[in-house]
Amino acid sequence: MTIQIGIDLGGSNLRAAAFAGGGGTTPFASHREAVGDDRSPAAIVERLARTIERLAGGSGDPVAVGVGVAALLRDRRGTVASSPHLRWRDEAFGEQLRRRLAANYRLGVYNDANAVTWGEAVAGAARGCRDVLAVYVGTGIGAGLLVGGQLVEGASNCAGELGHTKVRWDEAAAPCMCGGRGCIEAYVGGTYLLARIRRELVHQRRRAVIERAGGSLDAVTPSHVDAAAHDGDAWALGLWTELATLLGVALGNALAILNPQRLILGGGVLGRTPVLRAMTEVALRRVAPPASLEPLSVAVAELGDDAGLIGAARLARDGVSLIE
Ligand SMILES: [Zn+2]
Repeated sequence: MTIQIGIDLGGSNLRAAAFAGGGGTTPFASHREAVGDDRSPAAIVERLARTIERLAGGSGDPVAVGVGVAALLRDRRGTVASSPHLRWRDEAFGEQLRRRLAANYRLGVYNDANAVTWGEAVAGAARGCRDVLAVYVGTGIGAGLLVGGQLVEGASNCAGELGHTKVRWDEAAAPCMCGGRGCIEAYVGGTYLLARIRRELVHQRRRAVIERAGGSLDAVTPSHVDAAAHDGDAWALGLWTELATLLGVALGNALAILNPQRLILGGGVLGRTPVLRAMTEVALRRVAPPASLEPLSVAVAELGDDAGLIGAARLARDGVSLIE
């Protein structure tokens, strides 16, 4: 394989990076553009194909192309069951892109959290680990699993949907955009968390918290709440205790099932809230069976935005779930 190309198709940006075939993790070329308003699959496929062809430089040799997409997939042919970020539902995205590209491109389409997890396993916080659970709490919650060194995609490519495991199942369980309720994402996912923080702050009038955001309620983020919790603000600590307990239940149950050696925590929310992360770790250690904690080490994601590009490129190079 002369060239590997990794693509991260998110709700805001379309990013791509080309790596030399030898397997380094520093790209020799990269590209970034806004996804923009025209999100029809046909338009996205065309833009992706042109980006891929330009990065490959007209090479007729085999080129590995891995696309990580912020979506719930339905199979290993890149069919998107739903993507709130792209506003897609039941789109044969992978097959459309496959048809658009010449035969020398070896294409795989992956869940974005899976691509990120593979990237962390290749060159980041899970280097050398064969059994890994990686959980990214950002706008939503994504997760990736490695069992025995293999990425676990599941029977219909939706394994690892930890965000939609239930932490409550009663009348008061929070509704989730997936159509369910009581999902951990509906409590800790950034979209829900931000709405709750602002809703509560309207009533709580915690001036100390709002001042951290320059005095603007609309500018308050989870990291401001985290700083307030660090300084002992009772409201912030109460909220963090509730959320850390719920996330600890979800993670502790996952540890009981998977028994990983490394748990990676990351994403736009957990990556910027060290107090919430530490409280979550305490909570999950209370929930998980003690035997599952013996081999476990917890690490913060290392590679940030690049993990998905590296991971998607490597998955395609390694022949994982290529579309024929
Ligand atoms: Zn859900």
